[in-house]
Amino acid sequence: MVEIKTDTALELMREAGRVVANALAAVRAAAAPGVSLLELDEAARAVLDEAGARSPFLGYRPAFAPVPFPAVICASVNDAVAHGIPTAYRLRDGDLVSIDCGAELDGWNGDAAVSFTVGTPRPADLALIETTRRALEAGIAAATVGHRLGDVSHAIGTVARRGGYGMPADFGGHGIGRRMHEDPHLPNRGRPGRGLPLRHGLVLAIEPMLMAGGRDAHRTDPDGWTLRTTDGSRAAHVEHTVAVTEDGPRILTLP
Ligand code: MG
Ligand code: MG
Repeated sequence: MVEIKTDTALELMREAGRVVANALAAVRAAAAPGVSLLELDEAARAVLDEAGARSPFLGYRPAFAPVPFPAVICASVNDAVAHGIPTAYRLRDGDLVSIDCGAELDGWNGDAAVSFTVGTPRPADLALIETTRRALEAGIAAATVGHRLGDVSHAIGTVARRGGYGMPADFGGHGIGRRMHEDPHLPNRGRPGRGLPLRHGLVLAIEPMLMAGGRDAHRTDPDGWTLRTTDGSRAAHVEHTVAVTEDGPRILTLP
């Protein structure tokens, strides 16, 4: 069931979103060659604790997962697309990192992700991240009253396809509110003019995941969580929580 949020709820979700944005900023500031993924998790955890927010990631166990998620961020490096478990791995010069983080504050959730490089970047990685960002921007721009869900999917998919990048077909965005994952599912490709009509108060987590190899194939690590490209190519993942409003799309996960 798709839940439409009141304006009061949108204000509360904005506060949860602000915590997510601050946590991602702290992680990004801490990230450098030699820093471990567990240390990045600690940086995010400190921001959530300080804000009095709960992590919707920590202990999360969807049907596919063999173990509850053990951290407050997903940390996905290089050929990991998303859902990476933070480990003792220390970042190396030129790594491409995607960090996903959520926060629940006063019963409402925010969910966002960023991709960035540490040390000296590879030009191909910068292009991949830039296109993933543009896919997110296009999806957000399409999230307007009068459009349908398929318009958002189509906007994302068009940018990815024009860039020659692949996408894991069965993963995408989602509704969000009192729970981190709510209806509707938001595919990262779709047909314009189809699907759920977008109304004021619908909140979507929009999250393109692009794979540099251009194929859509992906696999899951033995840990049951980490999503990886099958060809070893690198991947990027960016996300914002966005409210559809009469005044246009409102990004809730900004600082
Ligand atoms: Mg996320
Ligand atoms: Mg999400």
